[in-house]
Parts: sequence; structure tokens; C-alpha cells
Amino acid sequence: MIFSDKYIDYSSKTKKELRQALILFSLLSNKIIVKIGNYLLKITLKLHLPVLFIIKNTIFKHFCGGENISDSRARIHNLGTHNIQTILDYSVEGKNDVQSLENTYKEILKNLDEAKTNSLIPFSVFKFTGLARFDLLKKINTKKQLNKAEKNELKILKKRLNDICQKAENIKIPILIDAEESWIQDAIDELTEELMIKYNKSEVIVFNTIQLYRWDKLKYIKDLHNQAKRKKFKLGLKLVRGAYMEKERLWSKKKNIKCVIHRTKENCDQDYNSAIKYCINNIEDIGLCFGTHNEYSTDLILQLMKQKGIENNDKRIYFSQLLGMSDNISFYLSYFNYNVAKYVPYGPIREVIPYLIRRVEENSAITGQTKSEIKRLKKALKEKT
Ligand SMILES: Cc1cc2nc3c(=O)[nH]c(=O)nc-3n(C[C@H](O)[C@H](O)[C@H](O)COP(=O)(O)OP(=O)(O)OC[C@H]3O[C@@H](n4cnc5c(N)ncnc54)[C@H](O)[C@@H]3O)c2cc1C
Repeated sequence: MIFSDKYIDYSSKTKKELRQALILFSLLSNKIIVKIGNYLLKITLKLHLPVLFIIKNTIFKHFCGGENISDSRARIHNLGTHNIQTILDYSVEGKNDVQSLENTYKEILKNLDEAKTNSLIPFSVFKFTGLARFDLLKKINTKKQLNKAEKNELKILKKRLNDICQKAENIKIPILIDAEESWIQDAIDELTEELMIKYNKSEVIVFNTIQLYRWDKLKYIKDLHNQAKRKKFKLGLKLVRGAYMEKERLWSKKKNIKCVIHRTKENCDQDYNSAIKYCINNIEDIGLCFGTHNEYSTDLILQLMKQKGIENNDKRIYFSQLLGMSDNISFYLSYFNYNVAKYVPYGPIREVIPYLIRRVEENSAITGQTKSEIKRLKKALKEKT
């Protein structure tokens, strides 16, 4: 382990909370239980089973801030006492009806209002699929001609995007745009590039997310950087490995096309680390947010910052981990005064279940990280007694 546990401050956690977290991660490390749990989460979603209170007091409590912004304030404050900021992430996914899309749009504006008045929130964030129908994005991605109704939907989407970015620019809160499935990502990239050209003239307001588990994205970063130099705008990039690997593999198999994901983890790591080097070498043109729990990559960033004489708290470089994961990295970074913010998802419990399913899958897949969490929690519990 590169980042020691010794900087984590568990003093605000009760013994009960630590024990609950330990039970949760122990369950997540058991593949059979995870399979059953995941199945139950999916059924809960479909059949509206009355088990939301169980989810609320276990997995939701660990990985989410609350059901709305005001519910999440206690978490934001608590993280803030440890010099860790918060990126509030309205994690309602997979809604396609007109009303839900409008609600999400309004929630993102509210999220920006909260950031404006709370210095512990450095960014806002959203997903395109929160603002537009998935099938519309899929069609834009194919470059097929849109019909009249779809053209109108695209117009509404563009208006929402511009309203959000205009507000972000006015209040000087940069906005992160999440990356999603490859069959809608070209559409997201193109629309986000338009926003960067418009809003990133002098400061970085719009950040696109780059998934380095894709073999085509390192080149994309370099091409985008060249475009930015030509058109005189700044780049905002959040670098992640990528969250949809299983889905992508199934998709390419079903469609009989080459998968966009690297064949091996090593290749993915290589591209992530090359992207780190490229971006830090071009820090004059790029605002960066590293969304990773990988200790080697995080350490590489710290080494490069040191080599280049970049201050720890240089505003151009942010680190972010998900709430409930890799506290050893977050607390280490905050202790040494780097800019670090937790992604804190929030939303009505039922709506956040797809996000929780991804966390369950991720934590059961990354057994090494889950084992470290268990070790950490056991040690913290022992120290409390
Ligand atoms: C703050 C934050 C924001 C995020 N935002 C997004 C987002 O907008 N969009 C998104 O898609 N994800 C997002 N993620 C999730 C992220 O993409 C990763 O899934 C997750 O963080 C695990 O990767 P890691 O860098 O922590 O490192 P590790 O734990 O070292 O790597 C695990 C990751 O490596 C990749 N991988 C594993 N095996 C293979 C293989 N055989 N071949 C190729 N690649 C492999 C997968 O991406 C897997 O998730 C975000 C994560 C964080 C912390």
C-alpha cells in the first residue's frame, strides 16, 4: 500500500458505524452474497419491494450523502472538517420521461446554487443521460438524420446545456460532465467540445471526462489538445479508467464489433498513466481532475507535480474519490494540502439503486481494494476499544 492508513481520521465515526461498514465490505468481498444482493437490488427496483429502509441504513448510508441536497449537508460539513471538499452528484439514472429530465435539469441548477454558497463544493457535475433521452443520444451518435421531434429534443438539450454552463460561468463553479457508454459517448464528446469552445476561453468552466480503459482515448486527448490550441480555448479534463467494462464487452459481442475497451488491465493502466504524463506536461492549457482510487497512478501524479515544481494546492489539479471508498488516499492528500474532493452521490433511494449496483459490482471486482478497506476498518474498530 502506497498511501498509509495513518492519516485517516475515524474520530467522527461511532463504533456502530465502523462495525456496519465492516459488515458491508465483508459482504461485498463474498462473490456469492454479492450475486444474490445485486439480484435483490434489481428486483427491488422492478417490483417496488418494501426493503428500502434496509438499503437506506446499509449500502445507501455508506456510499451516498442523502436523499437531497439538504440531507447531504452534514456529510459535506464533516468531510470539510478534514480538509476534504465535496462534489455533489445527483445520481438519478436511466430516466427517460419528459418530466424526469426536466427535474434533473432543475436539480443541476440547484446543485450549482448550493456550490455558490458553500466553499466546500468546488465543482458541479452531471450526466447527459440525466438531461436527454438515452435513445436520442444513441441516434445522434450514429450521425443519422434526426426527425422533426428529435431535432426539437436536441434543441431543448442544447438549451439546458447552455443554461447550466452559463450559470456555472457566472458563479465561477466549473462543471464536470461524466462519461458514459461508448454508443452515446461520441454525441456527448461533440456537444461537450462545443461547450468548451464557448465557455473555456479564459478559465476552465467545462470539464469532459475521458475513459482511459478505451484504447482510442489517449489519442483523443492529444487531438483535442491540438484543437484547443488552434481554436484558443482551454481544456478541462477529468481522467478516469471507466465504469462500464462488462456492459461494453457484452455490447461489442452482441453487435459483433471490436470492443472499445483495452484487452488487459495493464494496457488500460499504461494509457491512464500516459494520459497523466501528457496532461501534466501541458498543464498550462489543461485543468485536471483525476477520478481514481489507483494508488500507483495517484502517486505518479504527486511525483510529476513535485518534479515540475507545481504547488500541492495548485488550483489546476484536483483529485477525487467516491464517497465510501479509498479514504486512505483522500485523507493523505488532504493532510498534505492537495485539492481533494469526494464524489458524494445523492437522490431518492429507489432512483439511486442503479448507482449502488455499480458500486457493489465494482467493490466485489476489486478484491484487493475491498480487502484493504476491511483491514482498515478492523484496525479502526480495535483502536476504538
Ligand atoms: C471521482 C470519480 C469520478 C468518476 N467518473 C466516472 C465517469 O464519469 N465515467 C466512468 O465511466 N467512470 C467514472 N468513474 C469510475 C472509474 O471509471 C473507475 O471505474 C473506478 O474509479 C476504478 O478505477 P481506478 O482508476 O480507481 O483504478 P483501478 O481500481 O486500478 O482500476 C479498475 C478499473 O480498471 C479498468 N479495468 C479493469 N480490468 C480491465 C481489463 N481487463 N481491461 C481493461 N480495463 C480494465 C476498469 O475501468 C476498472 O474499473 C469515476 C470514478 C471516480 C473516483
